[in-house]
Amino acid sequence: MALRLIADRRRLGVTATGAVAVVDPSTSRSGLFRLVRDRRCAPFPEARVNAVGSPFRGTNGNGDVVGFADMHLHITANERAGGAVIYGEPFDRYGIAEALGHDADVHGADGSLDVTGNLLRTGLPFGTHDTHGWPTFAGWPMHDTVTHQQTYYVWLKRDWLAGERLVVAQTVEDQPICEIEPVKAHGCNETKSVRLQVQTLRGLQRYVDLQAGGRGRGWFRLVYNPRQARRAIERGKLAAKIELLKAYRNKRRYFGVGLGTDTGGFSSLPGPRPDADRLPLTYPFRCYDGKVRFDREQTGGRGFDLNTDGIAHYGLLADLVADMQQHGGGQALRSLFRSAEAYLRLWQRAYRR
Ligand SMILES: [Zn+2]
Repeated sequence: MALRLIADRRRLGVTATGAVAVVDPSTSRSGLFRLVRDRRCAPFPEARVNAVGSPFRGTNGNGDVVGFADMHLHITANERAGGAVIYGEPFDRYGIAEALGHDADVHGADGSLDVTGNLLRTGLPFGTHDTHGWPTFAGWPMHDTVTHQQTYYVWLKRDWLAGERLVVAQTVEDQPICEIEPVKAHGCNETKSVRLQVQTLRGLQRYVDLQAGGRGRGWFRLVYNPRQARRAIERGKLAAKIELLKAYRNKRRYFGVGLGTDTGGFSSLPGPRPDADRLPLTYPFRCYDGKVRFDREQTGGRGFDLNTDGIAHYGLLADLVADMQQHGGGQALRSLFRSAEAYLRLWQRAYRR
């Protein structure tokens, strides 16, 4: 491997005295580098799924896929409404510290610039919150936060391990909100914002693929037709279909047994179950088919417990499913785990027309 100057193709090299210098490859053999594995590196900081096991793949006896679907999820919520309302990226090539560690840049050091979040939470534009994010997560994510990223990709991965097999990733721009936001990361043009969100979703697929050893190997697959989706799910992956949601103009409603969490959609997620202190979800738990064992999710210095946090971030959907399983929701769960198949059939019918 060589590092070359674009201008004259000279290489970065090492001189006879050991100094780093730009060298002429015709007169020097220096300037070739090789990657060397170093075992003393500090571990790369990352959220943890806190789950062990191999998730289900293949089909059931009828040839149907098994898994649940979320038909309404905003993975790229941070880019909506001008891109400076919801803080936090679903992933960042420089890691979680970049993705979730700069809330103060967007919401202000004390959170007082989070006008939309304050309005939606209390009805008043005033308010403050702890903006540390990574690694303490003292102020967020919480189940009732609406302006912080709750679908960091490791949290999404936890749900995949619990049996989520299909998500409809809604891209959206909210021109009316965008227009009145004092701070924006990009313009209010809906087409451009949606294009940016599609790029982010493609980037996420690449990022997950690279961690899994190369193109096509990751657990997160963008799918563009029902056949691709079915194939991805049969291979045990999470199929993600991109859709365009026109906010305030064309509120789509889906019916079915699947979920429509609207995470990232300016609506809060469920809090702790009222009787959770008396009848808590017991940790650790096993996923629906028993193949994966889960403990409380840990991101940075913060552990998340469904009994006290509710759905603080998207990864706690795994805990919610287990809670249903532990507390008499067997029938509902059977329906839920047919929802990926139900969605595929619906999509196939629509696709053939
Ligand atoms: Zn914030």
